[in-house]
Amino acid sequence: MKVPFVDLQAQYQSLAEEMTTAVGGVMERCDFILGGKVTEFEEMFADYCDVAHGVGVDSGYSALELLVMAYGIGPGDEVITAANTFIATTLAISNTGATPVLVDCDPRTFNIDPTKIEAAITPRTKGIMPVHLYGQPADMDPIMALAEKYNLVVIEDASQAHGALYKGRRVGSIGHAAGFSLYPGKNLGAYGDAGIVVTNDADIAEKIRMLRNLGMKIKYHHEIKGFNRRLDTMQAAVLCVKLPHLDGWNENRRRVAAEYDRALEGLPLTRPYVPGWAEPVFHLYVVRVADREGLQKHLNERGIASGMHYPIPIHQLEAYEELPYETGDFPVTEGYASEILSLPIFPELTTEQVGLVAEAIREYTAVVV
Ligand SMILES: *Cc1c(COP(=O)(O)O)cnc(C)c1O
Repeated sequence: MKVPFVDLQAQYQSLAEEMTTAVGGVMERCDFILGGKVTEFEEMFADYCDVAHGVGVDSGYSALELLVMAYGIGPGDEVITAANTFIATTLAISNTGATPVLVDCDPRTFNIDPTKIEAAITPRTKGIMPVHLYGQPADMDPIMALAEKYNLVVIEDASQAHGALYKGRRVGSIGHAAGFSLYPGKNLGAYGDAGIVVTNDADIAEKIRMLRNLGMKIKYHHEIKGFNRRLDTMQAAVLCVKLPHLDGWNENRRRVAAEYDRALEGLPLTRPYVPGWAEPVFHLYVVRVADREGLQKHLNERGIASGMHYPIPIHQLEAYEELPYETGDFPVTEGYASEILSLPIFPELTTEQVGLVAEAIREYTAVVV
């Protein structure tokens, strides 16, 4: 029996009939561009996140980048974010001309360390972009307090955390605005690229609506220079079918995580740490282990897939040579980058499959230690 890293087919099978009807409906109506399903999904998802407005876009990257622009952030400005994130986070900042300013992560949660943010604030700082990495909410209260003190905007990168709760509040409703990726492998994923912005700020929502649609509210009345970054109606129809299942899927991800926790107890590796105030959604289940490459090879030989999120910190990527950082600047991020391994996790992963993964890890660590 092989254990894949994710299994999108299993989920599709459970929804196949509904999906055919939903996508067929779009084809019958031919409302392909900003059609009825786009509005329907935007309202459903905003509601789900406890915010007033949702604006569908073509990717998570676009959601974040358009937000940076909508807040008037650009060349000469700085936005603080985590050194250990996916490059889409920092590209959403740097592609506007603004500079990403990196901060190290907390050694237990792997989310941005709020105690290290204040030292990174300069007169050019305009915003903070915390990332709810692996489906674990970032510690938002101290971040919002700093934002208030220094008059900064907080844009949550919630691309890995659809439905997670921070002190009982939905991720995406805590900052001034949030961007979600709806990439197929995310906790809520379309059947292609998609993303959404959520916010309680009506002006920002309006600005995003214009930026995603060539800068217009009324056809051919272009008020600003925008882009074509619209959410596709077909993808919105898919997402409308999926959203009602999200809580159930997240519950199953937590079930898988709990099974891993029990099965891996006592082994020489570090399991995910969940603070008391967090209800995570386990986009990833990331362990920290000394001989990561060896363990990955061992799992591979047994047909068990795994991943690394992410093997190279932002400041060590070739694409970010221009940033003024050196190796050693972010010791927590750098230390854990070579030790992290993401185990298979998805809602349909069976207890038996978790057992196979755990058994293979047990075997390996018994030999090595
Ligand atoms: C997936 C992801 C994104 C970008 O999403 P796309 O939809 O692929 O553009 C941004 N940030 C994080 C943390 C992600 O995991």
